[in-house]
Amino acid sequence: MASTAARTEPLSYGEARARVLGAVRPLPPETIAAAEARGRALRRRVTAAHALPPFRNSSMDGFAVRAADLERARADAPSTLPVVEVIAAGRTPSRALEPGEAMRIMTGAMLPEGATAVVPVEDAEAVRAPDGRERVHFTRAARPGQNVREAGADLAAGAVALEEGRELSAHDLALLVSLGEARIPVGPRVRAAVFSTGDELLEADEPLRPGAIRDSNRPMLGALLEECGATVVTSRRLPDDPARVADSMKKLLEVADVVITIGGVSAGDFDPVKLALPEVGDIALWRVAMKPGRPQAFGTPRGRLFFGLPGNPASVTCVFEALVRPALRKLQGFAALDRPRLPARAAERIDSRAGRTDFVRVTLERRGDAFWATPAGDQTSGHVAPQSRAHALLVVPEEAAALEEGAAADALLLRWPEAPPS
Ligand code: AMP
Ligand code: MG
Repeated sequence: MASTAARTEPLSYGEARARVLGAVRPLPPETIAAAEARGRALRRRVTAAHALPPFRNSSMDGFAVRAADLERARADAPSTLPVVEVIAAGRTPSRALEPGEAMRIMTGAMLPEGATAVVPVEDAEAVRAPDGRERVHFTRAARPGQNVREAGADLAAGAVALEEGRELSAHDLALLVSLGEARIPVGPRVRAAVFSTGDELLEADEPLRPGAIRDSNRPMLGALLEECGATVVTSRRLPDDPARVADSMKKLLEVADVVITIGGVSAGDFDPVKLALPEVGDIALWRVAMKPGRPQAFGTPRGRLFFGLPGNPASVTCVFEALVRPALRKLQGFAALDRPRLPARAAERIDSRAGRTDFVRVTLERRGDAFWATPAGDQTSGHVAPQSRAHALLVVPEEAAALEEGAAADALLLRWPEAPPS
């Protein structure tokens, strides 16, 4: 891919996304302990190697019986059975339960052959004879199957437990371990390198000086990357010096799966990323018909992924959600590439333009059974506060010239709207 002039027609967001995703090949999986795999992409379908539960067992502490033996049990005419064995969890019964017998059984213990029900200990009265033998009185009938967990009732042997591409939750880890899947193939952590560019940028602890602002994008981008499964291997800031930027890009492409720069890709006289591209090669400068975030650079130099994000904070946020996150998720092998999409309605008219996809920083409010979206302040892409306030990015699709009040649109959820203080 040669560096192209920025004066060509902008790409639609859909086209840019298709090109980015088309360039991404999932990284080879690594095998890790299931216990460590929360948040990773599962890289093969898991089917149950055995039934869950693996054996028929009791869901209560009580007495294993044949329900037929208690058919005539009444409060005034109890049925009485000898207790012939005690079955603890983890043990197996020494023999089958014969008609006219009961066995004391603990929760999770294996049911003896022949037993059809478990009567909870609270519903039975056990008595011990002077000779040490135990008998138990039952004052009501038992339903066949009561308090019995059948083998395979949770999951049958061979059934699909988890699909490939799933983002593993804490609960998925329990399922994997229950099935004996101690080690599993998962998407590796993506190694990401980040640098910001700009002579005007300061660190958080530097005093302001005229013309300068603090480099707020870099920590934000680092946190967004970590949140979607990447490890930030390098994060630094460079001056507006194309030679140094080119040099850094080349070095970082050696050590990272993805290199992301911030700023310096638009029409300014000193935009260093733009000026460095020809030297690095295989990166296109493109304009995407999206707002914010129109000027960008993208490519796959040396088989790595490169994103050149524009410098405005809202542009970084929106291009990250629109293109970078899906690419990084695909790289790890996730089936779901985007933030959760919540159907929402515009609480007021939101201007856009046909032929352009807008990502509007919105707050969400639940009214009845719908979420209503209101712009979280001025949408100027240089502002930092609105995106901190926002719950979501409302996507105004390409074909819409505006969203009228009440119109439906998808919201990419950044965080769950908090309940109003009561
Ligand atoms: P640029 O894309 O380099 O022309 O930058 C566009 C705007 O974003 C300018 O106002 C920059 O000062 C601002 N900007 C660029 N990089 C950062 C950054 N890392 N943190 C905060 N603002 C930035
Ligand atoms: Mg700049």
